[in-house]
Amino acid sequence: MQAEIVTIGTELLLGEIVDTNSAWIAQQLTTIGLNLFYTTTVGDNLGRITDVLERALDRCDVVITTGGLGPTLDDMTREAVANATDRELYLDEELLEEIRAFFGQRRFQMTSNNNRQAELPRGAEVIHNPVGTAPAFYVEHHGKIIISLPGVPHEMRYLMEHEVLPLLGERYGLRSMIKSRVLRTCGIGESAVGALIVDFMELANPTVGTRAHPGQTDVCITAKADTEAEAKALIAPIEATIRERLGDRIFGTDQQTMAEIVSQELAKRGQRVAVLENTSQAELAQQLTRAAAAGAWAGGLVVADRDTLVRTLGIDDSTSAGLELASQEMADLAAQALCERLGAQYGLAILGPADPTAPDAPDTYFALQTPQGLVRGESRRTREGAVGRAWLVHLGLDMIRQHLLAVYEEA
Ligand code: ATP
Ligand code: MG
Repeated sequence: MQAEIVTIGTELLLGEIVDTNSAWIAQQLTTIGLNLFYTTTVGDNLGRITDVLERALDRCDVVITTGGLGPTLDDMTREAVANATDRELYLDEELLEEIRAFFGQRRFQMTSNNNRQAELPRGAEVIHNPVGTAPAFYVEHHGKIIISLPGVPHEMRYLMEHEVLPLLGERYGLRSMIKSRVLRTCGIGESAVGALIVDFMELANPTVGTRAHPGQTDVCITAKADTEAEAKALIAPIEATIRERLGDRIFGTDQQTMAEIVSQELAKRGQRVAVLENTSQAELAQQLTRAAAAGAWAGGLVVADRDTLVRTLGIDDSTSAGLELASQEMADLAAQALCERLGAQYGLAILGPADPTAPDAPDTYFALQTPQGLVRGESRRTREGAVGRAWLVHLGLDMIRQHLLAVYEEA
């Protein structure tokens, strides 16, 4: 069983909108084990859409289109499907009533254009669309099927989930599914992770692969099976061995972020964290506020210069006299002051140079005040922009995580 996705719309070809529909549909097709062979994008041109659909029906069993179902003249999917399947268009009275009712309920003015949306290729089955006006439909053609969905992403997704996936699953007896388990690591590079699990990377089912992000590496274990339980059973022993090898380098699984893990661990113990940063564009504070488990977040400061830091945190002028903003001593003072001023058990300060890529730029300094004392770290930041910031935040959060592990694992 082979599938093709056809996304329709000139604005896709012009790059004005990004084709997120095909990526989303592709992921859904994997979950039911339907093999996607092609994704094609075509503009709003009747001849070319017809050509593409004919070719798709030639080389695949299942064709899913999105877009071009609206009421305007440049919405040509209905006509193209009719052409490609040698049918005529007709006005479906029942569908017209449904569209009228939709407009009536919302007190929208229906235009004569909307009648177009009630036209269907003869023999098509309607897929009712309760979340929009563009009705969807499918046509069976020589044992194959072509399914046309609206382009608006939330309408398309609703219809895929509620109508199309169940239809395909039943029709083709598709049960096999793909399940992935992601183990998220930090503080170890992708090649080092790869070297530790190299023997697993050759496996066929489940497959094991790595994916690098700034400051962290994911290990993805992906199994194909008939049922979710079977997939889980294939993944479990591999996961257990990989966990043994990577140990506490694994900080979380699947969608979990470092900020979430750290927040949860702190919240469990009734502890709070406060942060201070200067060159990470408030990334540290943002991640923690987004993730903060109830009660774990005390607050954050973003400072532009030394004077602001000293004044805001009420640091004695005599202790801080002559210190650079980006220095270990300043980070130490800030971390301590954060705990005192913001009533937190953990104070994390990350202070770096404004331009980390300048030849004589100092390192970035990390200080973490904990109930057990001060922990330090430093990093020569060589990356600019979002990637560089992500590294810093990750390193900082990992200091908290490692500290918690050291203190509470031993207990
Ligand atoms: P409508 O009734 O709204 O006209 P339609 O089925 O005709 O629905 P289009 O006009 O092709 O769909 O697209 C409507 C909107 O949906 C587009 O302006 C765009 O914002 C979004 N859209 C369309 N196709 C895609 C796609 N492949 N990926 C992401 N967004 C899309
Ligand atoms: Mg449209």
